[in-house]
Amino acid sequence: MTPVKLSGVGASEGAAVGPAFVPRAGVPEPERKGIDAGEVEAELERFREAVGVVAGRISETAEGLRESGNEDEAGIFDFHAEMAEDPELASAVEERVKNLESPEAAVLAAGEEYAAEFAAMEDEYLSARADDVRDVTRQISAELMGRSASGFEALHTPSVVLARSLAPSDTARIPKGMALAFVTAEGSRTSHVSIMARSMGIPAVVGVGDALSGALDAETVAVDGTEGSAITDPDRETVARFEKISQAMAEERAALDAYRHVEARTGDGRRIEVAANLGSASEAEDALKWGAEGVGLFRTEFLFMQRDDLPSEDEQYDAYSAVVRAFGGKPVIIRTLDVGGDKDLPGVDQIHEDNPFLGWRGIRMSLDTPDLFKPQLRALLRAAVHGNLKVMFPMVVEAGELRAAKGMLDEARAELEREGVEFAEIETGVMIETPAAAVCAADLAAESAFFSIGTNDLVQYTLAADRGNERLRRLQGADHPAVLALIRQTCEAAVEADIPVGVCGEAAGEPQLIPLLINLGVTELSMSAPSIPRAKKVVSEL
Ligand code: PEP
Ligand code: MG
Repeated sequence: MTPVKLSGVGASEGAAVGPAFVPRAGVPEPERKGIDAGEVEAELERFREAVGVVAGRISETAEGLRESGNEDEAGIFDFHAEMAEDPELASAVEERVKNLESPEAAVLAAGEEYAAEFAAMEDEYLSARADDVRDVTRQISAELMGRSASGFEALHTPSVVLARSLAPSDTARIPKGMALAFVTAEGSRTSHVSIMARSMGIPAVVGVGDALSGALDAETVAVDGTEGSAITDPDRETVARFEKISQAMAEERAALDAYRHVEARTGDGRRIEVAANLGSASEAEDALKWGAEGVGLFRTEFLFMQRDDLPSEDEQYDAYSAVVRAFGGKPVIIRTLDVGGDKDLPGVDQIHEDNPFLGWRGIRMSLDTPDLFKPQLRALLRAAVHGNLKVMFPMVVEAGELRAAKGMLDEARAELEREGVEFAEIETGVMIETPAAAVCAADLAAESAFFSIGTNDLVQYTLAADRGNERLRRLQGADHPAVLALIRQTCEAAVEADIPVGVCGEAAGEPQLIPLLINLGVTELSMSAPSIPRAKKVVSEL
């Protein structure tokens, strides 16, 4: 195939070459709900054929896995193939089709009923099979509508993922090690897909625009996440060039190794703490190896997005405790749930909003849904027993919200005390990521133990420029004078109140912005872990 060159934003450095993978979007929406009486026989036949195709495809995947020595994973796909051909599922669908439901709608509905039966089983293994049932019935429904059924469940070979956009709930579901790089039509350096790519340490090119549609049939893709370009079906010389870039990057990383575990200090002796942003507890060990001196931002929403239901208080407690324990006595700042905007929560009914980034986001949603917020606060208080845990609230625009959140924390504390459950005190801080919070920083500082500036949102709200819109690149930098003025104001309020101020937005890891932030008074920088050694080097050379 003729190579196609895609140009966009280099969102995560490094180079990779690998097979192309194009994921399918979520649950298929049935095209027709009903059918005519005269169509029943033909539709039943179509259903049986679709089952055969899906079962065959799944068995092939199982075979491939078995041949490459992945016996355990192959077993899962054997189960999926069996499930696709399950006679009970077939008769439930057939009955619905005879009652004039379209097979694509019938198989989803029957699948949902079947999944609910599994979910209700006491045996943990069997109840976890509900998701397998949904997965299979969605594939059959998609097949009936002639759509590709290759969601991330079908990603079994390390590949370059090509997609119009990748929501955090998509990236959270990518099997570990299976994404070599991302290329997306939409997005900017501060979109969540870019943030995820940097944490995963894989190259990404975002914002390539409509040119992506010409690349979706590619077999192989070469990605240069430093320059911001990708080439489909590259020739041998191009592959060699990309391998060279990858090697150069490995050499640069090796040279930076010396900085991993230094304490960063500017020439005039100011100590700057360099911490990691985490999306899950499993990233903690890796972050420590990169030299993280703490966690400046633990994005708890990913814990909620990796699944279809909500994590219980105990499950949250386990995840928070694991991070705090891994960091010993080092500070770990855990941010309460920040969904809304571009982050949907699978277990919660979110109403469609015309402007989700200006909508029911972060602390607004948490304060309105105590059933969601309270268990999180209880889990945080309990996990604090294991180390130096601090909590911070996202999207705050006024001191009243901070007070309300702290009030809820007091209630959670009182409940635990009454129940005799062990917990420890935690410091509470605020994210400064709205212009309102920066302008009201003095009020907020009076009631906060620390500030953490979220430049990703602060930039988009100050400059009225969607952080994921690839056409607004020139308005997505934290070095705009208006943004810097708000950061200055925040730092001044923090100094006045004698509280520390960090930056946990992506600007914290940008070598050219670090000197600016430090000059404005920032004392802590938190970033994707692989960026830590370079940030320490930049600080040490100031
Ligand atoms: C920010 O807005 O800068 C931030 C760190 O939060 P998130 O990127 O998760 O919105
Ligand atoms: Mg934010």
